[in-house]
Amino acid sequence: MSPHPKIAIIGAGPAGLTLARLLQLHHFPLTIYEAEPSRQTRNQGGTLDLHPKAGQLALKEAGLLSEFQKHSRPEGEASKIMKYDGKVLWDDNVLPPWRPQAEGEQERPEIDRVVLRDILLDSLQPGTIQWGKKLLGVQEDEKIKGKYNLSFSDGSMEMGIDLLVGADGAWSKVRPLLTTEKPFYAGITAVELWALDVDKQNAWLGNFVGQGSMFMFDEGRAIMCQRQGSGAMRSYAAVKRPENWVEECGINWEAPDARERLVKEYFDDCGEELKRVVLETKDVLIPRKCWMMPVGVSWKTRPGVTLLGDAAHLMTPFAGVGVNVAMADALDLARELVKRKESVTAKLVSDSKNIAVAVEAYEKEMLKRAEENAAKTMHGLKGHFSATGSEERAGKIQKGYNMMMAKKAEKEQRGS
Ligand SMILES: Cc1cc2nc3c(=O)[nH]c(=O)nc-3n(C[C@H](O)[C@H](O)[C@H](O)COP(=O)(O)OP(=O)(O)OC[C@H]3O[C@@H](n4cnc5c(N)ncnc54)[C@H](O)[C@@H]3O)c2cc1C
Repeated sequence: MSPHPKIAIIGAGPAGLTLARLLQLHHFPLTIYEAEPSRQTRNQGGTLDLHPKAGQLALKEAGLLSEFQKHSRPEGEASKIMKYDGKVLWDDNVLPPWRPQAEGEQERPEIDRVVLRDILLDSLQPGTIQWGKKLLGVQEDEKIKGKYNLSFSDGSMEMGIDLLVGADGAWSKVRPLLTTEKPFYAGITAVELWALDVDKQNAWLGNFVGQGSMFMFDEGRAIMCQRQGSGAMRSYAAVKRPENWVEECGINWEAPDARERLVKEYFDDCGEELKRVVLETKDVLIPRKCWMMPVGVSWKTRPGVTLLGDAAHLMTPFAGVGVNVAMADALDLARELVKRKESVTAKLVSDSKNIAVAVEAYEKEMLKRAEENAAKTMHGLKGHFSATGSEERAGKIQKGYNMMMAKKAEKEQRGS
């Protein structure tokens, strides 16, 4: 019998990697099983803003905050908000930097997903990840309750897992052990568009968007652009349409005129510059359906198995919280296990009771946080795709700006 409990994390995304790093700092033996064949395989495109009390806090406890600060981009927080007709409602790029600097009010700098992944991967002990291990299914051991046997697509199996952590994203193969709920179509399809090396290839587009993001929200549609650390611009032209819209709207997404058709049919009354954003983001086009788990999904805790991140509570990106919630999950689960470390790792046989108690305590907090954030995301989705979506977002930023300015003036007055 193994001297330690066998811990298996499925998925090397931000959630699984953060958990692995936190547990390794406390000498927990573990293995990550990742479907992709190697760390170079997939373009982990996109940029994520890490919040001080979630993603950044997890990195701080993981001893990786300074590495994050080295690579993150505070200027990526700049927002430009436009009305569908081209009117600019807010533009951080023309203001002096104003976002909170004070302690306890730190910023939410952006980091490229691929860079975050590299920081986490480089922090793990060699051999932690088994690449090319796509989980196909899980069975509870017939003889020992609370132990799990894993089958992978390469025909291999891993037996007798004491703690199975599903950090395997939207289409988790671990989730069915805990709930029959599945992701459903959230009513939005976003056509993802990339302009690589934007400042060289299309200086107009780079200047128009600015240092960070540009958003246009309107009834049933939105255009969103975000500058990436790699020098690329990623845009989304999103529409509120039925699930089969991609296949049945009549646009051939492979054809050279796909962008023109999209603009003509869904954004024709928009300002010329907004239309140019869609037409001139030329390098990649991928229609993506948005999926989500029900708000408030929950389950009865089950010894030896749990979920983290998108596997537990997939949300649409319309509150920009997914990765933060995922990393907060990893931090909470690690804390609960570390609290019981002596009995979880130091015994000659695995202490399944303590693992079960840790999982139960973690899930109580995690499910509550997931519900709050999923509700916020749902609210974001409704707001973004409404006629006053741009005004609401601009108003929120204006409010933050006014508060900062008032604080600054008060400080100056006290100082004089
Ligand atoms: C377009 C878009 C924009 C977003 N923007 C933001 C944002 O600005 N801010 C923010 O906070 N969040 C954002 N998110 C959400 C964020 O990306 C996710 O919430 C986050 O990546 C979740 O991390 P995770 O580790 O739980 O899952 P994932 O990142 O999905 O990682 C899961 C891992 O598991 C692996 N895997 C999957 N199935 C298996 C299997 N069967 N066997 C083995 N391995 C498997 C995958 O290959 C992957 O490596 C965005 C999401 C999208 C789609």
